[in-house]
Amino acid sequence: MNILIAGAGPAGLTAADELCRLGFRPVVVEAADHVGGLSATHEYKGYRFDIGGHRFFSSSELVNRRWREWLGDELLVRPRLSRIYFRGKYFHYPLRPFETLARLGALESTRIAASYAWSRVRPRDPEVSFEDWVRNRFGSRLFELFFRTYTEKVWGMPCSRIGADWAAQRIQNLNLPRAVLDGIRRGSRSEEPALAKTLVRSFLYPRLGPGQLWDAVADRIVDAGATLRQGTTLDKVHVDDDRVVAVDVSTPAGAETLEVDALISSVPLGELVRKLAPDVGEEALACADALRHRDFLTVGLVLSGSNPFPDQWLYIHANNVKVGRIQNYGNWSADMCPQANRAVLGFEYFVNRGDDLWNLPDQALIDLAEREGRELGLVDGCEIIDGTVIRAPRAYPVYDADYRTNVDVIRKQLSRYPNLWTVGRNGLHRYNNQDHSMLSGIFAAQNAVLERGHDVWEVNTDTRYHEEGVHQQNTADRLVPVPLRD
Ligand SMILES: Cc1cc2nc3c(=O)[nH]c(=O)nc-3n(C[C@H](O)[C@H](O)[C@H](O)COP(=O)(O)OP(=O)(O)OC[C@H]3O[C@@H](n4cnc5c(N)ncnc54)[C@H](O)[C@@H]3O)c2cc1C
Repeated sequence: MNILIAGAGPAGLTAADELCRLGFRPVVVEAADHVGGLSATHEYKGYRFDIGGHRFFSSSELVNRRWREWLGDELLVRPRLSRIYFRGKYFHYPLRPFETLARLGALESTRIAASYAWSRVRPRDPEVSFEDWVRNRFGSRLFELFFRTYTEKVWGMPCSRIGADWAAQRIQNLNLPRAVLDGIRRGSRSEEPALAKTLVRSFLYPRLGPGQLWDAVADRIVDAGATLRQGTTLDKVHVDDDRVVAVDVSTPAGAETLEVDALISSVPLGELVRKLAPDVGEEALACADALRHRDFLTVGLVLSGSNPFPDQWLYIHANNVKVGRIQNYGNWSADMCPQANRAVLGFEYFVNRGDDLWNLPDQALIDLAEREGRELGLVDGCEIIDGTVIRAPRAYPVYDADYRTNVDVIRKQLSRYPNLWTVGRNGLHRYNNQDHSMLSGIFAAQNAVLERGHDVWEVNTDTRYHEEGVHQQNTADRLVPVPLRD
């Protein structure tokens, strides 16, 4: 049986691994010259950079079992430390009221209290946007200090354009008095606030970064007889009335057509639709064109001197700099930075391809990161001795007001082809983590050869997947803001 997998990221490699376990020998084509996709680790002169800092954390037993099987002792358990860096001080996230007020000082605390009181007297009504929601519960001053800047950097839209629902889901029932009460109840104990659902206190991390795991899986599938073709792009998918029959792939050396019995694709959904021949009709093509992504830039700096901060990453809540987050890879795993008295930082910029930052030459980006690091006072006493830039296109599938309709139209159209499965983060246009991509790959592989009939679109990482079947289901999804309609 000729099974072709497009993309050697977590979804494609896990699908290939599953097929090998079931006795099949798939062919995996990967456009890049390395595996791992967004979960690759980039190496520069022996220093290792992760795209975004990948925590390995999943409620799926199956995923956890695979991770341990693939990496064993190389998978480290890391205690999490990540804080907000603001005005030269560190604040825990979510905010701890007493710590926040103490660090901001008496004057700022008074302003926060006054603006909160004003928001109670004059709440925004109706409460439509994220901004309205936060101002009503925390006051304008706290909103400006701790909510606006970072949110707008990440999502690339004003808080006044983000729907209030997102705040309600994300921040849940929290407001200033409840946060203060929670703080009093906890007293001086240093544990995280009980109300915070977003925190995970420890996580798994491969000793050499996430790419180590995906390199190991690539070796495994090749040892098991699969074919892995890096630098090979899926260009076209030939379909007859109701099946995928062949694909065109190309390398710098030329193009060829491969006959296939089944196709598992982690190519971004819109791109896959445009590759189908004959085309799938105007409606689905228009929906494919409307699916958008947000992109991501990491400027890696190598520093000499002492380690600038103990956190794995810092959220930068300052509007005088463009950087959104700063990773400190040596704090994820010491082996990401093999040289003594050195540190490797990743300055992360949330961008759109083609905008000014994306188009800056690498050296200008390295200079910008150094300048911003100094402006923030974070790299004082260190010398920047080298730098590199990693551009990650299509890092975030965008959830705009129409994306769900667009995905539904495409999904219906693709359901005509029973031997085609689209998997993974961009393959399903779903803002999710490695574990979700892996499960979608496993289920697609089982569908292809065991006719299991899993609905890959419904894969949910909060579901307890066991080898034997599905034991519990809920519909929670990763929280992403949806913009308000005009
Ligand atoms: C900033 C950031 C932080 C993140 N943090 C975490 C985290 O902490 N924990 C976590 O678990 N996850 C995290 N993720 C998510 C994780 O990176 C993704 O969920 C995962 O990599 C998705 O795997 P995938 O295989 O679906 O897609 P990808 O990783 O995107 O892989 C798809 C592959 O397909 C290839 N491809 C595309 N088109 C073609 C084509 N036409 N022909 C051949 N090959 C093609 C690409 O080159 C790529 O290698 C983060 C992501 C980002 C951007």
